Amino acid sequence: MSESIELTGNMHMHTPYSDGEKYHKDIADAAIEAGLDYLIVTDHNIWVDGLEGYYENENGRVLLLVGEEIHNVRRQPQASHFLAFGAERELASFSADPQRLIDETKAAGGMGFLAHPIEKDVPIFNEPNLGWHDWDITGFHGIEIWNYMSSFKSQLAIALTNLRLKWKPLAYLTVIRVGLNPEKYITAPEPEALALWDKLLAEGKQIVGIGNSDAHGTPMSLGPLHREIYPYEYLFRAVNTHILVPESLNGDIRHDKSMIFNAIRNGHAWVGYDLPHPTNNFRFTGHGINKGIMGDKVQLDAGATLQAKTPIPANIRLVHHGKVVASVENKTHLTYIPVEEGAYRIEATIPFQGKERGWIYSNPIYLY
Ligand SMILES: [Zn+2]
Ligand SMILES: [Zn+2]
Repeated sequence: MSESIELTGNMHMHTPYSDGEKYHKDIADAAIEAGLDYLIVTDHNIWVDGLEGYYENENGRVLLLVGEEIHNVRRQPQASHFLAFGAERELASFSADPQRLIDETKAAGGMGFLAHPIEKDVPIFNEPNLGWHDWDITGFHGIEIWNYMSSFKSQLAIALTNLRLKWKPLAYLTVIRVGLNPEKYITAPEPEALALWDKLLAEGKQIVGIGNSDAHGTPMSLGPLHREIYPYEYLFRAVNTHILVPESLNGDIRHDKSMIFNAIRNGHAWVGYDLPHPTNNFRFTGHGINKGIMGDKVQLDAGATLQAKTPIPANIRLVHHGKVVASVENKTHLTYIPVEEGAYRIEATIPFQGKERGWIYSNPIYLY
């Protein structure tokens, strides 16, 4: 329970080393403007060595780390994207075999996450979904429960289906309508992604959930939209992963990096949609024979409680293996006396622009 320092970051984005628009320095400037503490840049199929470190400007500094997003370019569709963090080596040569990729990431001391595991097709633009398709795998560390750019694609798919648009010019207008106001349409993570997480947790697995921007700095290759509708800075103010670490960052890259990776590895983290309202200072703790924070195991006893606290009033739900076991409305605290073992996670929603929005998704506390 010594993890009391909160860091906000984003761990999925691209530079011109793959299909992103801006280089590391500019992305770091955007992150400083957005108030982030750490970044992990994840170009497609290339681990870019030598650029990690603190990037500073007159407004502050951010620790920029480098991971990789790997997929098999010969696969059709080019689905099943895998995020590798902390492996400190190129892994793209294993892309054809997802299990090997997971195993080699682990063997190198890293951890692997399934990126945007659930997506929707956008048939009118011949855009297949790039979710995770190769389920015969084991040993991955976690999943991206919310990917903001992927949410945009899904909202677009929904809008196009609702309008039953078969005529491309009208479909392009819909792209523009949804594209210019993503926050109007994006309300929450894919329900299927949360259901997938709950299913894995109910099987007794410990699966870390992360949420990211997937920033490219360019419009998606959909329609005629050729302007930067999602600048890095905008996206760094949207879906982030907040982590809890034992000490403040001290500027020593090795020390700070290992502290950040430890927090991610242990699931001392929540996914926050910081655009409607910052999710800073959210906490979820378990009090049993021992005390624990998100990601921890807590030994269940007769007096055990789970406690969640949000920075502003919210609708808060406690989810146990897919079932809501406790909820409060428009409150800042939820307390629950658990009797069953297993993984418990918090979801909180708040209203924003006339709709209820997914706001906080905590990693589970594991009662045993
Ligand atoms: Zn991807
Ligand atoms: Zn990506």
